[in-house]
Amino acid sequence: MEQATRVGITIVGIDTQELIKTLNRVYADEWIAYYQYWLCAKLVEGPMRVEVAAELEEHAREEHKHATLLADRIIQLGGTPLLKPADWHTHAGCGYDATRNAYVQAVLEENLKGEQCAIQTYHRLLAMVDGKDPITYDIILSILADEVEHEHDLVRLLTSLRKIQTT
Ligand code: FE
Ligand code: FE
Ligand code: MG
Repeated sequence: MEQATRVGITIVGIDTQELIKTLNRVYADEWIAYYQYWLCAKLVEGPMRVEVAAELEEHAREEHKHATLLADRIIQLGGTPLLKPADWHTHAGCGYDATRNAYVQAVLEENLKGEQCAIQTYHRLLAMVDGKDPITYDIILSILADEVEHEHDLVRLLTSLRKIQTT
């Protein structure tokens, strides 16, 4: 049976294939961010370990939620989320350096770098869909707000850590 026309797709005012490609790039980054947080929460060592691990676990859950939002939107636009985990690495925009140092400060700084890249990436993406695709705009805006919160959480933990280390 032929599929019914979907008006929801026709209101997207930019090249859909280009948009799907861009969304797949950040989708890859979200899985990588999820894994990085999930693993770091288990490996982290040093002062404030329990507190830091709890925050990293929370961030992992939120990155996973971002991957879900992006996958759903990609499918809604008629695309396919990257099929193989191997593709995450080749398609990622921000990417990820494997954590070599499990000390709390190194872990926080590594994750902070990732968040700052994510904020810049989502900010660019927001400008790309502004006035052209309100649904994607809304999704990206909510993800961007989470990434800004993540950055702030990590900066605050680093500040607390520094205070402990100098007293
Ligand atoms: Fe995220
Ligand atoms: Fe984040
Ligand atoms: Mg948090």
